[in-house]
Amino acid sequence: MASGTVHIIGAGLAGLSAAVSLVDSGGDVVVHELARHAGGRCRSYFEPALGLNIDNGNHLLLSANDAALSFLETIGSKGKLAGPNEAKFAFADLTSGESWTLHPNEGPIPWWIFVKDRRVPGTRPLDYLSMLRLLKPGADESLDKIIDCSGILYERLSRPLFLAALNTEPREASALLASAILRKTLARGGRACHPLIASEGLGSAFIDPALSYLDRNGAKVCFMHQLRRIEIAGDRAQSLDFSDDSIELAPGDDVVLAVPAAVARLLVPGLQGPGRFRAIVNAHFKVAPPDGFPRLLGIVNGTAEWLFAYPDRISATISAADRFIETAREELAEAIWSDIAKLIGAERAMPPWHIVKERRATFAALPEENAKRPGPKTRLSNLYLAGDWTATGLPATIEGAICSGKTAASLVLAKSRQGLNGKGRRRTP
Ligand SMILES: Cc1cc2nc3c(=O)[nH]c(=O)nc-3n(C[C@H](O)[C@H](O)[C@H](O)COP(=O)(O)OP(=O)(O)OC[C@H]3O[C@@H](n4cnc5c(N)ncnc54)[C@H](O)[C@@H]3O)c2cc1C
Repeated sequence: MASGTVHIIGAGLAGLSAAVSLVDSGGDVVVHELARHAGGRCRSYFEPALGLNIDNGNHLLLSANDAALSFLETIGSKGKLAGPNEAKFAFADLTSGESWTLHPNEGPIPWWIFVKDRRVPGTRPLDYLSMLRLLKPGADESLDKIIDCSGILYERLSRPLFLAALNTEPREASALLASAILRKTLARGGRACHPLIASEGLGSAFIDPALSYLDRNGAKVCFMHQLRRIEIAGDRAQSLDFSDDSIELAPGDDVVLAVPAAVARLLVPGLQGPGRFRAIVNAHFKVAPPDGFPRLLGIVNGTAEWLFAYPDRISATISAADRFIETAREELAEAIWSDIAKLIGAERAMPPWHIVKERRATFAALPEENAKRPGPKTRLSNLYLAGDWTATGLPATIEGAICSGKTAASLVLAKSRQGLNGKGRRRTP
């Protein structure tokens, strides 16, 4: 149990994961969140333009995401992730008109590459050997220095996989992070690659159950409580200044700062962290997918790379979408819809649509940005960092965010086991 109160700043998944781990050990936990809602970059909301509840962005998880699955198990919502009980990914190439299903076998010996209708059409088993080069991590460099970033295997498998996971054009992306993805997923076999989607929304799978769990376990969550400044004395954070009050930290109190990189760098002088980001654009179309339309469809040579089919809409994702940030929404919606119309085989007028542009969706997973990610400890003995941008060894993902929160919580607990005591006092100026 933590010896004092643990103040967690930010109720995104990193902050919620830290809070869940800490209440599990019986500590006093207070979460402070700037917004009126929790979830940060992983949230659901009602969109009046569509009259539907949507997610800020389509999120894909894989069965390899052990930390995320264990978080859901703890908060009681593992059943909210749905997907096939095998690694099957439908793809369509809009230029050639081909469609196929990538179907790695469950075990770690990849015999699927020898089976024509399980591998990518137009590739030979030998082509896949090139991926082995990625399994040996060396000094970090861009992916194009390690594997050939051209050809059919790249366009139809490596690029879609790494673009989705890294949110950065793969040829310039960190080979270390690409290696981490490959080792955690395909290299472990199909059983690590079952696709999982929060079909009733991210809020009902991750956020609402986490908030209920925290409430049941005595944690307090303060919304619209923006941390503005951390007062420092010597090697300790001394007080937390919020918009209209401040909290003095007693000797046993700790702080987990689980805010985005840019905010953390403003709050902690001298903190190093990624300073370049990449956008994600999501387009939501209010149309029921036709019967048999895949739940998840990878698109090659289209405007978007992935389509997610929900009962009441089809949603498209464009990763590393900075080139579209200034594009008019209508123009973007029409381009994406024209691809969808081809796929669903209908010349149909565009249904009601909504575009969500997340400018700073994740840090740019470039070697130089990856090198700037700080670990969870800071120079302050009672201040820890969490967030998908910290040095988790993973790209900026749900899994990374949840791991970072767990790590920060375990450091707080390890320190308190060494015997500090005390309680925080709250004062209003
Ligand atoms: C469109 C999109 C699609 C994505 N797709 C996927 C996917 O398919 N699979 C996947 O695994 N991941 C995906 N991700 C990444 C995933 O959403 C993030 O990695 C994860 O949500 C980050 O969580 P976090 O807690 O680190 O940060 P955040 O979610 O950014 O949480 C930080 C919290 O801190 C709060 N805050 C900020 N400043 C202050 C302050 N001063 N005081 C108090 N609170 C503050 C914020 O309001 C926020 O709630 C996607 C992200 C986006 C944006």
